[in-house]
This record gives sequence, structure tokens and C-alpha cells, in this order.
Amino acid sequence: MVQEAQGSKAPVQKLVDKIAGVFVPAVMGIAILTFIVWMIFGGDDTFTHALLTSVTVLVIACPCALGLATPTAIIVGVGKGAKEGILIKDAATLEKLHKVNTVVVDKTGTITKGKPTLVDIQNLSSLKDDELVSILASLEKKSEHPIAHAIVNYAQEKNISISDVFNFEGIQGKGLKGEIGDTEYFAGNAKLVSDLKISFDAGKLDKFTLQGKTPVILATKEKVLGFVMVADEIKEESVDAIKNLHALGIKVVMLTGDDEKAAKYIGSLVGIDDVVAHVLPQDKLEKIKELQSQGRIVAMAGDGVNDAPALAQADVGIAMGTGTDVAIESAGITLLGGDISKLVKAIKLSKITMRGIKQNLFWAFIYNVVGIPLAAGAFYPIFGWLLNPIFAGFAMAMSSVSVVSNSLRIKAKKL
Ligand code: ADP
Ligand code: MG
Repeated sequence: MVQEAQGSKAPVQKLVDKIAGVFVPAVMGIAILTFIVWMIFGGDDTFTHALLTSVTVLVIACPCALGLATPTAIIVGVGKGAKEGILIKDAATLEKLHKVNTVVVDKTGTITKGKPTLVDIQNLSSLKDDELVSILASLEKKSEHPIAHAIVNYAQEKNISISDVFNFEGIQGKGLKGEIGDTEYFAGNAKLVSDLKISFDAGKLDKFTLQGKTPVILATKEKVLGFVMVADEIKEESVDAIKNLHALGIKVVMLTGDDEKAAKYIGSLVGIDDVVAHVLPQDKLEKIKELQSQGRIVAMAGDGVNDAPALAQADVGIAMGTGTDVAIESAGITLLGGDISKLVKAIKLSKITMRGIKQNLFWAFIYNVVGIPLAAGAFYPIFGWLLNPIFAGFAMAMSSVSVVSNSLRIKAKKL
């Protein structure tokens, strides 16, 4: 995939192709004109002079450096990214990244480790604590959510038994439900409980959510039986990554399906500008569209199945290498090891590569701009200057050498 990316065309290349499309016929024209003018005004030995000057014009103008300017920089940029654990899917992604001014991140698995643990049990029923956990763990055993793993792992550690669950159903963005014996149980967030229209004082959760913990409430159709709290740790690199994004002038927004208070708390720990909580997967997509309609260039970083549509919608989708396959497939960039600080490096890499391409275009053109009038003999009448075709060939080669060397410099740049 990296090789494919290295061979792909960056959008700036289109501009270069357009320029070359005009440049080449223009040079042919200049060469012919040079020949004609020399034939008319050339004095003695006219034909030799006319032929030499027109050939020299063609030689020095040969735009091979122009053809190298973009692809060589892309090859080096994508290759350097791969070495740093930043896998870039195509050149267009690398190019777009340098314009990004807003980064949207998912909370679980992107800012936090995505490996929560069960930290509190609040029993509101006549059941024993272990029985409460047993019911929860039985339900969660069927789920793939990180929260579910936290609860199941806890039950296994404490040797709490797990029962069979029937008619299991996941409830998107809210939790799940299933039957054990004759009873139907629901487990999930406060939204789920309010959907059930049973009495529950959600204020009870605040004490925990204000510390960034996520509640999982267990209820039947009639009443809430209790809730447990799971807590996830922040990735060590998150704080620095957000700080560095700010230093680049980039706004950081966090989107999460999690509880609002918990999300705000985590957001404040890492210094995120804006937190949007309780979002369903389709809302993540809408939020990206909304930011884009405000004229923002958005990069979205996420790891989950529910992030995939948003990753595809964003100008640049960035998946965590530790995330789900569908996230990686939908994204233009994958950060190995799920290390969010690599995002900053990726943006810097994009800026460096784009700067390299612009410098390359300068080097590709400067020889032509200076060389063509000289080659055509424009200075001959005043200074008696002419360009030897051998030197024209040398200059032409040098412009390619300058471009390739300049692209290779990208490799040595510190990200
Ligand atoms: P996120 O990836 O941000 O957690 P989700 O849409 O997967 O977003 O989940 C949103 C919320 O729904 C979770 O924060 C949690 O409160 C609840 N939820 C989802 N799945 C489960 C589950 N298996 N058990 C309990 N609660 C869940
Ligand atoms: Mg997630």
C-alpha cells in the first residue's frame, strides 16, 4: 500500500501537467522563432548559428525536472512517513493534510487507551453485588464494546458466574438488551434509561461522571437495579499531542458517544477546545459535515466501527493502527500503535513535503527562465553571449539533480 501511495498522483501534479502542456509548445515555438530570426539577421555562417541556437533552446528547456518535481517529493515524503509509523494511503491525502485547521478526535481508543476497567459498583436493588455484576457481565459478554470487556473481565477476575442470554440486541449509541430466564434486562447509559421511561435520579451519576467515569446502568422494564462505573486511562501522549496541534494553530474537537460530563472531564484533562458528547455514529458524520460547511478543513481521528463513516467524510481520515479494520480501511492515514502524537508529525510531514514540491518547481523552472533567452542568443547582439549546447545539456541535467537532491532533503528533516 505504501508503494502504491508513492506512485499515486498528487493534485498539485495536475497544475504541473497543465503548465507543462503550455510550456512544451511554447518552447517549440521559441526554438522555431530563434531559428528564423537567426536565418534572417544572422550575418555570416547563418545556418550553423541558427541550428545551434535553436537546438540549445530545446536542450535547456527540456522540462524533465518539472516531471520529477512532484513525484520525487511524494516518494520521499510517503517513505519517511512509513518509517515514522505513519502509513499514508495516497499522495492526495498527504497533500490535503497540510491545509487542515480542525482536528476531530474520538474519545475512546483515540484520546484514551480504550481499555477501561470497572471501578465502582452502586447497587440499588435487593440483589447481591455479585448477582448484579453477574447479570451485567452475562449481557456484556455478547458485546464487542470496550465497556463490555471491562465488565466481563471484572466478572472473570472475581469468578462471578455468567448466565446464558437470549434475544440479545445492541442498542446503537446507548447500550444493549437481552433476556436471562424470564426477565428482560437493559444495560447502558442514561439515555437508555430515559427511553425506558422508568424513574431514575440521574443526578446519582454526577459524582462519578464528573471524574470522567462512564456509567453502565442495569435495569429491567420496571426499574433500575443499579449501575457500575468504568474508567479509562488517558494515553500518555494525548496531552502533548493536543498541545502541539494547538501550536500549529489547529482547533481540536472531541466527539464521543459517552456521557457528557465524563467526556468534558476527559477533554479538560487533555486541553481539548470543544467536546460534543452523546453522539450516535451518524451524528459523528453530520458533525464533520457541519464543520466543513463552516469552511473548515477537517481531519478526523478515530478507531471504532462507529467512526468509519466520519473518517470517510472528513477531508483527511486518520485511523489508529490499534483500531478496527473498517476504520483503517475508511481512513487515508493510519497511525501505527494508535499513537496520536504521530498525527502532529504527519501534519508536519505534509507541510515539509508541500514546501519541497514548491522549491522543486522553482528549481525546475529557474534554469529554463534564465537559460532560454541566453540559449536563443538574445544577449548576442549586445554582449556577444551565446550558450554552448554542451553547457545547455549540463544545465538541464543540473536542474534534475537539484530537484532530486532537494526531494531527498525531506528525508533528513526533523518532524
Ligand atoms: P463511543 O465509541 O464513543 O463509546 P458508542 O456509540 O460505541 O460510542 O457508545 C456510546 C455510548 O453507549 C457509550 O459511551 C455507552 O454509554 C453506551 N454503550 C454502548 N455500548 C455499550 C455496551 N455494550 N454496554 C454498555 N453501554 C454501552
Ligand atoms: Mg470509539
